Amino acid sequence: MHDQQDSDGPGQDPQEFYNKLITSVPGILYTFWVSADGSEQRFPYVSQRVNDWFGLEPEALQKSADGLFGIVHPDDLAGILESIQTSALNLTVWEHCARLKLTSGEYQWFEGHSEPDRLSDGSTLWYGQFHNVQQYKELEQTLRESEAEHSYQAGFQKLIADLSKEFINLHFGTIDECINELLKNIGQFFGVDRAYLFTFTDNYQFMANTHEWVNPGVSALMDRQQNVYIGCFQWWQQQISGMVSHNKVVFIPDASELPDIADGERELLERRGVCSMFAVPVKVRGRVTGFFGVDSLRQRRWREDQGDLLIIVSGLLSGALERHNLEQKLLSQSIRDPLTGLHNRRYLMPRLYEMLGRASRNQETFAVAMFDIDHFKQINDSLGHLAGDYVLTEIAGILEQQTRGMDVVARFGGEEFVVAYSLEQSDDVGRMVARILQAVRDHHFKFEGSPIEVTVSAGIAAVTDLPQIPSSPDPVIGKADRYLYLAKQAGRDCFVDASGTYRI
Ligand code: GH3
Ligand code: MG
Ligand code: MG
Repeated sequence: MHDQQDSDGPGQDPQEFYNKLITSVPGILYTFWVSADGSEQRFPYVSQRVNDWFGLEPEALQKSADGLFGIVHPDDLAGILESIQTSALNLTVWEHCARLKLTSGEYQWFEGHSEPDRLSDGSTLWYGQFHNVQQYKELEQTLRESEAEHSYQAGFQKLIADLSKEFINLHFGTIDECINELLKNIGQFFGVDRAYLFTFTDNYQFMANTHEWVNPGVSALMDRQQNVYIGCFQWWQQQISGMVSHNKVVFIPDASELPDIADGERELLERRGVCSMFAVPVKVRGRVTGFFGVDSLRQRRWREDQGDLLIIVSGLLSGALERHNLEQKLLSQSIRDPLTGLHNRRYLMPRLYEMLGRASRNQETFAVAMFDIDHFKQINDSLGHLAGDYVLTEIAGILEQQTRGMDVVARFGGEEFVVAYSLEQSDDVGRMVARILQAVRDHHFKFEGSPIEVTVSAGIAAVTDLPQIPSSPDPVIGKADRYLYLAKQAGRDCFVDASGTYRI
């Protein structure tokens, strides 16, 4: 009965009872006292555990709290002192977290809770406890990290989705803008100093920087990186062959630690201030055509999956370049004649409409010359269709050679060609056409050993030959065609314009 009573409460030996109770608490119980003027601080009572954990004697802490403040992490000390002051001033519950140094030397997080009492002499006494919360802090940290990681991943996915959308909607001529935008966005997202795209020549002997984004204040290198001969860089050559054959990512964590064989590469990177870089192959239709890269000018920690993230970006670039190439090819197929490579009528007509527009707005004149090969049927008939094709191709070359960049040269029909000349006051179309006729006559056409005599006839109509500027190019073409007919009538190998027939 007696024993039973003892275990129910303080009973006859309260000291033993409270000691047992205190040691069973997984923290440290204490009273903390601060004198009225704040100059003295003590722990009148503190659990024995303070010795086990921190190597501090409770007896010493009873005289001065300095020992305990001495083990507070330097970054947390000011916060503790301030919170004690606030609690003393307002008599509010003191609750605080701080790192304390264990006997092992390691700092761990503790959380304290105590309630203040004002004593009659103006001093303050707190009753409370503090306990180890390291596990929770670590858990919190992990949680925070995984949240940050989650939002990073989500940010990356959103960026890629946005960029894909841009690439899908891109129209002819804006691929460069899209690539530049991508480099900027990716560069900023990864916090690098430079992001760029290089292309290789077909034999992987040279590379050229085609697009570049640089962080503000970082010098651009693109102009200096055209036609770079790769043969000088043995190590880099090896990396490229890794990119080409195994789609490998090149990662240089620290340029100064490149192997000896990469002396040239190291020197170049150091000269350009590059500390660390990634290069990821870019493929078009299964073939590595270049690489996408990022530079960092300072030492930095990269994510473990940095290479994988950059591969996703390079995939986006590959897809866009592939589509762009295909579109360019289709576009060029639709506006070019496959035999001669010249533009076709589908291309010519809108250009003529543009010239008409400029003629009516700015009085800029133009002329159309229509060429037709003389007795072309005979060439086909005597030497075969392939010989005819050969002559067509040669004539196309002469027309390209004898015209200026601003003139439009097109294969108009079977063996008829049109040149649309944009004219300035001093231009003499007759002379330019005569030069073509001369060049054709002087050209040595030779098919399978047989020389071929070739001449052409032409008709020239200027927009100013018409009573007024027409709304469609047809009247100008029609007039040139009629003059061409007259040139044939006049015996061929000559041209006719509004002022008459000309022979060379
Ligand atoms: P003319 O001096 O009056 O112009 O005589 P021509 O023989 O050149 O006249 P015509 O216009 O009757 O002949 C054009 C020929 O061009 C008929 C056609 O078979 C041939 N031709 C058209 N397109 C091609 C082509 O792509 N390749 C070849 N080899 N021949 C073509
Ligand atoms: Mg003809
Ligand atoms: Mg002909």
